[in-house]
Amino acid sequence: MNIYDSVIIGGGPAGLTAGIYCGRAMMKTLLLETYSVPNQVVLTDEIENYPGFPEGINGFDLIEKMKNQVKKFNIEISEGLVTGLKKNGKLWQVKTENSTYETYSVIAGAGAKARELGIPGEKEFRGKGVSYCAVCDGAFFRNKSVAVIGGGDTAVQEAIYLTRYASRVFLLHRRDTLRAQKILQAQAFANKKIEFIWNAVPEKITGSQTVTALVYNKTDRPETMNLALDGVFIFIGFSPNTAFLSGVISCDQDGWAIADQRMQTSEAGIFICGDVRAGSYRQIIIACGDGAAASLSAEHYVSKIKGPAA
Ligand code: NAP
Repeated sequence: MNIYDSVIIGGGPAGLTAGIYCGRAMMKTLLLETYSVPNQVVLTDEIENYPGFPEGINGFDLIEKMKNQVKKFNIEISEGLVTGLKKNGKLWQVKTENSTYETYSVIAGAGAKARELGIPGEKEFRGKGVSYCAVCDGAFFRNKSVAVIGGGDTAVQEAIYLTRYASRVFLLHRRDTLRAQKILQAQAFANKKIEFIWNAVPEKITGSQTVTALVYNKTDRPETMNLALDGVFIFIGFSPNTAFLSGVISCDQDGWAIADQRMQTSEAGIFICGDVRAGSYRQIIIACGDGAAASLSAEHYVSKIKGPAA
């Protein structure tokens, strides 16, 4: 069987940066990505805080540039959803739905997925008015009313994006102050199409064929409100794609993977990077830094266990 020096799991900024570094280190490397689960950056319209692009860059374009840079080096890129990792002597077996790969090291940077509210109507109307991606679905809501749930950077950024299409965007937040960066807050407050609904906890989403209303409870007074609208965009944070790491390396109580500053986990040979890392600020630039650190650590580790080349 083909034995890799490193198998990188994830085709987002963390995994792609790890790919560039592993490629330059001339490690025999396989990068596994999943086309069915697009990474968060691809779904981001405008990135304003990635250095070197003062005029901003579209998420899809940034990932394409990173991918083209990876392809300059001799890295194998393949599709595969990783389902498990198993130790086999000095090697790790990486299992996907269709294959098993053997490698000296694993660099896991599979990112995170959108959290769900878990309220009635959310599942039923998914794709029929309920969405977790403004770039994917925003255009369906031209001249319509939508609600955005959440008060973090994602909710505020995506609410601003949605005003390109929707005639009205209600931003519902469970508290009376936003968590989002001040620059995003200022842009949202200045946008006449955005209406803020504070101290509001979503209770259910209703409709017939598609969404027609959102029912929410006020936390500052005993009142339940019915807001007529056409769509509900949910941006209440993320949970890590670490199912295949659970029981293999140490994770915190919410499933985020624990690593030291060199991205070494509790298991020798397994390194992590990007949004999956417990305590990460979850920024593209930080994911890239993690990917670089993880591959440098993997390179040291692999050269140590393989010993000097004959
Ligand atoms: P986040 O910062 O965790 O914010 C989640 C928001 O959802 C919070 O406002 C939270 O309310 C609310 N929320 C959580 N659970 C809820 C529930 N069950 N019901 C109602 N509301 C709920 O997540 P995020 O905004 O997706 O950001 C994730 C990370 O990506 C952050 O580190 C962020 O800085 C980064 N990011 C950066 C940019 C950028 O730099 N431009 C853009 C997007 C994301 P509370 O505030 O009350 O907790």
